[in-house]
Amino acid sequence: MAKCAIALGSNLGNSLNTVENALKELANIPGIDLIATSSWYQTSPVGPPQPDYINGCVVLEIEQKPEELLTILQAIELQFGRVRKEKWVARTLDLDILLYDDLVIDTPKLTIPHPHMIERAFVLVPLAEIAPNWIEPVSKKAIAQLAKEVDCTGVRLLNQHDIS
Ligand code: AMP
Repeated sequence: MAKCAIALGSNLGNSLNTVENALKELANIPGIDLIATSSWYQTSPVGPPQPDYINGCVVLEIEQKPEELLTILQAIELQFGRVRKEKWVARTLDLDILLYDDLVIDTPKLTIPHPHMIERAFVLVPLAEIAPNWIEPVSKKAIAQLAKEVDCTGVRLLNQHDIS
């Protein structure tokens, strides 16, 4: 079994419902065990004006290889109605592979660690909650350390009463 970290994000429709249901779907897949789930965060969008995101991270134990996991995540994204258009646009569901053991790969389909994770507070803050000591194998720094090095002002713990 490998250990793997995934990021979830949504900013269209009922985002909290979407990320929670996507997570249930993922946890139900044979060969995948959910080990830890972060809190949900409400985060300011990066790029052009668009609604706030709901973001969170999970740690899995997984039998599948990274490419198989990517196929699974893309099927779940499609199931939740994501329309794949340009970068930086509002989306129903985005699922990214952040870390897979201490693997470093860079192929046309898959880059692990996720190439933008170390600059994204909306990834590092939730991940630091559940995997603070995991060493990101490119920077060779712990997730908690990386989280301290980014501006976290746009990342707020979700007060579920804020969401209707
Ligand atoms: P995005 O629209 O930003 O979610 O990018 C999706 C594309 O990124 C997919 O076509 C994947 O093949 C590619 N990709 C590369 N590395 C990763 C990764 N670590 N996790 C998820 N998707 C990835």
